[in-house]
Amino acid sequence: MKKIRVLSGIRASYSSLHIGNLLGAIDKMIKLQEDPKYETFYMVADLHAITTDFDPNELKKYRIEVAKDYLACGIDPNKSTLFLQADVHEHLELAYYLSSVISVKRLYLVPAFKDKKKDYKNHLERMSLALLDYPVLMAADILLYKAEVVPIGVDQLPHLEVAREIVRKMNLKYKLNLPKPQARYNDINAIPNILGTGEKMSKSEPEGAIFLNDSLDVIKRKISKIPTLTAGGEKIPEKGGVYTLYLLTKLFVPEKINQFENEFFNGTIRYSEKKGDVSEAIFNRLKPIQEKRRHLNDDIVIGILKTGAEKAKIIARETLKEVKEKMGLL
Ligand code: ADP
Repeated sequence: MKKIRVLSGIRASYSSLHIGNLLGAIDKMIKLQEDPKYETFYMVADLHAITTDFDPNELKKYRIEVAKDYLACGIDPNKSTLFLQADVHEHLELAYYLSSVISVKRLYLVPAFKDKKKDYKNHLERMSLALLDYPVLMAADILLYKAEVVPIGVDQLPHLEVAREIVRKMNLKYKLNLPKPQARYNDINAIPNILGTGEKMSKSEPEGAIFLNDSLDVIKRKISKIPTLTAGGEKIPEKGGVYTLYLLTKLFVPEKINQFENEFFNGTIRYSEKKGDVSEAIFNRLKPIQEKRRHLNDDIVIGILKTGAEKAKIIARETLKEVKEKMGLL
């Protein structure tokens, strides 16, 4: 039986992944890897890391570090094709072909771009073309492998919508038969950062993130800073520090969530105690990952990535040939 292809990637914009990436993406990626119905392609998205300011020396390091995180979390190179996006330059070529069917206006409307525009105070001259193009490259990542399933966090859904639109237009305009990718996400909303600002945890804001390689002391220090001013009330807040602590309790210490709620409602909640529970539980989840990571050697990891890229290229070349033929370029 033909396996259903799966593609996912994580940006190499920091030296380590965070617990948002773990719960929002990697857990699902591993589940699919273990299911024989699927053929899984997982990449370190190093090309997506150049959309905003970056240091080439750091990027060189980060892409290997992120690959190590993948492996330490349980991505198994015997079951999944693990590779560096930049090693398969076909991603870039396909992205250019895809850009012929999507308008600049549509890309301006992508929520992540609009958010970034706010960060840049509408200074479009400071925003790169690569940033606008991000969803097109993401569509190319998926379509190159004709992936039908894309495990992602909810924050990526609007990007997947662009990919689906591109598929529709490519198929119509060039008589192709590319499959429409489906997002695979769970009901975990994006994990918020621990600063209580309501933004999602992200590598681009390291002070708000808990990284997979943080020690127990670091985790405790970071968690202790979650702003928790509300003493209790009738309803758990839907944003802010108390919400963050509540969500982390739900995800990492589910057996204590009822107690959290009861104490919040009757006003006896002691946040320092809850923060201690959450810190310990997060560390317990991360400890085996950190242990496994310590034993990963750079040369072996680089070898795994090279083998993965060679495997990925076989499929990538086939798709490109098909697209170029239909577009009159071959
Ligand atoms: P980051 O914003 O940290 O750079 P990426 O954009 O590389 O993360 O996203 C990699 C994957 O991790 C995507 O599937 C994304 O949806 C998921 N992800 C990122 N941040 C979070 C979060 N805070 N909560 C849940 N999932 C997340």
